[in-house]
Amino acid sequence: MVRRVDIVPHTHWDREWHTPFQTFRLRLVDLLDGLLPQLEGDPSYAHFMLDGQMAVVDDYLAVRPEAEPRLRALATSGRVSMGPWYALPDEFLVSGETLVRNLQHGLSVAARFGGAMEVGYLPDMFGHVAQMPQILRQLGFEHAVVWRGVPGSMDRSGFWWSSPDGSTVRAEYLPVGYGNGALVPDDAKALVRRIDEFAEEQGDLLLGPILWMNGTDHLLPQPWLGRVVAEANALDDGYELRICSLADHLADAPTEGLPSWRGELRSGARANLLMGVASNRLDVKQAAARAERALERMAEPLSALLLPPEHWPTTLLQQAWVEVLRNSAHDSICACSVDEVCDAVLHRFAESTQIAEGLADRALRSLGASIAGDRPVVVNLSARTRAGLVELRLPGAATPPGCQLVSERAAERVLMDDTPVSVATVTVAELEYVRGILSFTIESLDGMELLYVEREGAGTLVTPPVRSELARIRDHYAGQNVRVRVTNRPAVTVLARVEDVPGYGWQGWTGAGATVEPVEARPLRLSNGRVTLQVNPTDGTFDINGLAGLGALVDGGDVGDTYNWCPPPDDTIVDRPGAAACRLVEHGPLRARLEVRRTLVLPTHVEGTRRVGSQNVLVRTTLELRAGEDIVRVRIELDNHGVRDHRLRVHLPLSHPARTSRAECAFTVVERGVTAEGGPTEVGLPTFPSRRFVQAGGLTVAHEGLLEYELVDVRDGPDGIGVANTLAITLLRCTGMLSQGPMATRPLPAGPLTAMEGPQQQGPVSASFALHVGGRDPYEVVDDAFLPLLVTSAGGGTGAADGQALSVSGAEVSAVVRVAGTLHVRVFNPTDAPTTVTIDGRRGWLVDLRGRPVEPFEGTFDLGPHAIATAALS
Ligand SMILES: [Zn+2]
Repeated sequence: MVRRVDIVPHTHWDREWHTPFQTFRLRLVDLLDGLLPQLEGDPSYAHFMLDGQMAVVDDYLAVRPEAEPRLRALATSGRVSMGPWYALPDEFLVSGETLVRNLQHGLSVAARFGGAMEVGYLPDMFGHVAQMPQILRQLGFEHAVVWRGVPGSMDRSGFWWSSPDGSTVRAEYLPVGYGNGALVPDDAKALVRRIDEFAEEQGDLLLGPILWMNGTDHLLPQPWLGRVVAEANALDDGYELRICSLADHLADAPTEGLPSWRGELRSGARANLLMGVASNRLDVKQAAARAERALERMAEPLSALLLPPEHWPTTLLQQAWVEVLRNSAHDSICACSVDEVCDAVLHRFAESTQIAEGLADRALRSLGASIAGDRPVVVNLSARTRAGLVELRLPGAATPPGCQLVSERAAERVLMDDTPVSVATVTVAELEYVRGILSFTIESLDGMELLYVEREGAGTLVTPPVRSELARIRDHYAGQNVRVRVTNRPAVTVLARVEDVPGYGWQGWTGAGATVEPVEARPLRLSNGRVTLQVNPTDGTFDINGLAGLGALVDGGDVGDTYNWCPPPDDTIVDRPGAAACRLVEHGPLRARLEVRRTLVLPTHVEGTRRVGSQNVLVRTTLELRAGEDIVRVRIELDNHGVRDHRLRVHLPLSHPARTSRAECAFTVVERGVTAEGGPTEVGLPTFPSRRFVQAGGLTVAHEGLLEYELVDVRDGPDGIGVANTLAITLLRCTGMLSQGPMATRPLPAGPLTAMEGPQQQGPVSASFALHVGGRDPYEVVDDAFLPLLVTSAGGGTGAADGQALSVSGAEVSAVVRVAGTLHVRVFNPTDAPTTVTIDGRRGWLVDLRGRPVEPFEGTFDLGPHAIATAALS
């Protein structure tokens, strides 16, 4: 019987990785400069796949804009396939929304070229999130193509892959990756021999026609492909070769007798998952968390809800998102890339965050301007009604009752003592622009008044007569210092507690004092009636409501690389400080802080098989408790300069032993055990990623960019299954190589053996997380900890001080955006139970992820367990 071989010519184009973007791009331009005439002039070279990502097209056309019509002609005639991604992302280290926007933007750019390849092409991602099948189904896709992460039990080249909501795609498994057919030889017999070898090696695993992926990392096409395929077919030795698209191959892929898998794909059994990327380069992960929050939770909902539809900042938001999408590329967000790439990634995140924060600020001001009066207005960016602390700047010298003074600006103060030249030319010229300054006095150091100037109304301070006076002082007092004293309107910055701010709503601050129990602060203890926090001064750990030993720092060696953790053979573990001390730094009544200072005596680096050297590292931990809250905010700061090749984790004992953890991943919470499946080329390590929170044994940790956790202190349970007693969160994992050669946890390299400085994270680092002991909804905890209530000032408008722009309940809100003027609200149900979503007073259509109508709704709609829905409000 003749067996079909589907040859899909392609290239895998990591936009940046062991080489910076611009250098790779020059090669990309060469590739496409050669490919276009090849395809145009050689019909036997029937097809080429541009790696499933539109960034490749954008990057090329930015250099060769004149090539767009040719590329479009090839794409629309089916000779080139492109998209659906904008950039091939990592799925675990970015938000669900980033994954959706990546696909939506890819599809939108591809539409200019006649549309995208309708296949969930996931060739190189370091594992796959549980909700990917649902995301793909909501785009109308029926197929995924995967390599890494496929469990050992999936023993066929196709399997049914389901999301927790039941959405299912057919997954084509690439048994040796996306390059099994790379570098086709210019020799038909040699080609057939290679196909024979592959078919024999894979045996029963291969179902139906053989998929021959003719390409690999940054590989240029082989121009003889069409001819050599024709020659191979003429050999008539059992194969029918054809050059086709991935979609062509999948169109009649076998569907009978396939195994099934539900949930995420995170196994190292069949390919390296590269399990340590979540903890590589803390700075990149933190920047990602901030940029996504600023865009998804601030700029978009504020702009969508507070601005008129025609003021939706389409272009700026798209610019910010495109940078985040570029950074979501697997080698970029995983930071398993050279230092130049990580520099670029950080810069892109910074620019996205600046755009997002600027847009959020503008929308807030616009709300303020619409409201009557001059009171502060508190804005809630979460869908749920919330209470919490806000920082207010108030006129006057008095701290309102129930508030906590943070700082005050006195009515009069000495601004500077300096030479008359400096005073005259610099300071006074600048005072002009500080509108809060009402008057200034220049006096001699013995207190004689030389000049007094008062601002009249909103007028200028430095009038021409004042200038001549300044000139006189400058000349007369040359050689001696003079003093500048200023008066200004007194003001205080205070903390105030607000209650019941509606979801996506606002509330004018009334000056009412807090109604919650204040924080009582003692040298080693904070309590607020809900939480009692007690520091153990001997080792700097702390108790929350009696749960003891929280916050121990545990440091071990790491001779791995950016991809995988690997302890040195003779490791030294430092798990207690050389010294610890604690002091009260803020006293309440609304917010109190303890500062724990611990000195860790750490080896400085690894030499041979062990850690050597010694350095004292001061670790400052700030523990914060606020009135009315049941979370403890923790900030850990240290200077990592001089300490290399190590992994530092914070250990958090559980309230009760746990067999599983629950962690946020895209659009849901996934439950995992205490082990992970490894394989011949990667040791399975249960160091798992969580996006914003992880829960286990009665403890919830909400964090900003601390993506890696592990259940540790595992003991055998009565049935032989491990039970964990402690949750470890990785604070830092510092290594010096992009990829190592053979190492204990991964015998083969995962990339070039390039020495790098960036992953050592030399310099000051800080990490923030919040702890909750109890059973609260983790999405609530993460909002309370990392999505503060915002404040704007009313002024100039006629609107009411209290209001609500949108009321959504019954599910988590992932996005509030405008699409062609229409308000879209994306929600998901992270629970195992069905729910009813209520959008008060609104009707419209539920749409899929392409915006196509699914069904109408009026006020409410049902949402199944783990389902995602997008509501377009009319
Ligand atoms: Zn790749």
